[in-house]
Amino acid sequence: MKVTFLGTGTSQGIPIIGSTHPVCLSKNPKDKRLRVSVMVEWEGLNILIDCGPDFRMQMLANNFARLDAILFTHEHNDHVAGLDDIRPFFFRQGNIPIYAHERVLNALKKRFDYIFVTENKYPGAPGVNEHIVTDNDFEIEGKHITPVSYLHNQLQVYGYRMGGFAYLTDI
Ligand SMILES: [Zn+2]
Ligand SMILES: [Zn+2]
Repeated sequence: MKVTFLGTGTSQGIPIIGSTHPVCLSKNPKDKRLRVSVMVEWEGLNILIDCGPDFRMQMLANNFARLDAILFTHEHNDHVAGLDDIRPFFFRQGNIPIYAHERVLNALKKRFDYIFVTENKYPGAPGVNEHIVTDNDFEIEGKHITPVSYLHNQLQVYGYRMGGFAYLTDI
């Protein structure tokens, strides 16, 4: 298993636009932090956790050409805003499987209604296959995944355990 931390920044990213804070003005590459997301390469599967506004640049920077599933932790914008940019993967592979709490899927349907419509879909729009995550373990192509539920302030969030790796964000 190979885990790539694509982003570890706050919801605005680091640096923050226009900020004169020393961290934001820093030349240290460790102070350039994209919005949070992780790619788990697991025996031939590329499993992405969260798909935020920096998704496109994160895919380009790491030369990912295939996407087998997206696991969403929660519906905050910095974790979901990149969903439209799955289009290149969709054009090559077809519908991309997405996994999330039912509440999160409903939030995605509000923001990206055109992705989820079944009739008169715009030809350039991407497609997804929805999978509802509950507190029960589930499998993606034979790979066992354990959801871990916890609170991010008042909001329920899922972390995910895959083999010896577990990822819990915003906790
Ligand atoms: Zn959050
Ligand atoms: Zn967050």
